Amino acid sequence: MKILLILKARRAAGALAGVAEILNGHGFYVSEHKLTPRDEETAEIRVIASGEGDSKHLREKVEAVSAVIELVEMREVYATELAAEPERVSGQPPDPWVERLTREWPNVLPVLKEFSAPLGETDCEHKLTSLGVDTGAVIYGRRAPSDPPTRVEAGLMQIVAPALTDLARTKVRGNTLRVMETDLASSERVDLLFLPVEDKPYCCFLSGLVAGMLNAMPGMPRVRVEETRCIARGDHVCDFKVTEIG
Ligand SMILES: [Zn+2]
Repeated sequence: MKILLILKARRAAGALAGVAEILNGHGFYVSEHKLTPRDEETAEIRVIASGEGDSKHLREKVEAVSAVIELVEMREVYATELAAEPERVSGQPPDPWVERLTREWPNVLPVLKEFSAPLGETDCEHKLTSLGVDTGAVIYGRRAPSDPPTRVEAGLMQIVAPALTDLARTKVRGNTLRVMETDLASSERVDLLFLPVEDKPYCCFLSGLVAGMLNAMPGMPRVRVEETRCIARGDHVCDFKVTEIG
């Protein structure tokens, strides 16, 4: 398996060596890494580690490395993901929008409005969805339990719904997440969040967010998320149906 770690660390303090040592002790080796200076003192370090090791307790050990300021994200990455999104693991600095959304969570509406404002409609759908996916992965990384759910329904109940608590009123029914009420839906700028796709508006950011969280869970099959009902289309709820794709 391969795992991705994103760390915020002190630049001059040998953080990578410390983290590599911990990884080796858990049966992983560093197969790729990239250090991106953030300011005079700190850097972002992205590490892809491979191996058949035990990732239990890895998080605490990495966080205990003295040069590490924060373990921003740690999750399993899949071959398909590495192939499909090379830029994700090739060491780009984290998207500043994702950083802002996760920092200001759950007060995301102002940030989403600002993000969407300069975008055209076609661009907006793709970009809002991708932003949701990336944000979902980071949100999951921060909550990642030591025993992550491996079934969709459990993932929705144990991680997704609780993460959305202050953002939306939700209910889980089987593999569907139902959103009854959300500030995102009552926004004055609803046009920016519900974008027409084949004349059918849907919640791009929320769809991406649900997929991003579920796909970040190690042991969870890859999933896709489809919004089968949407308040923006006149339905009384938004239903996000999750389907396993392998
Ligand atoms: Zn919707």
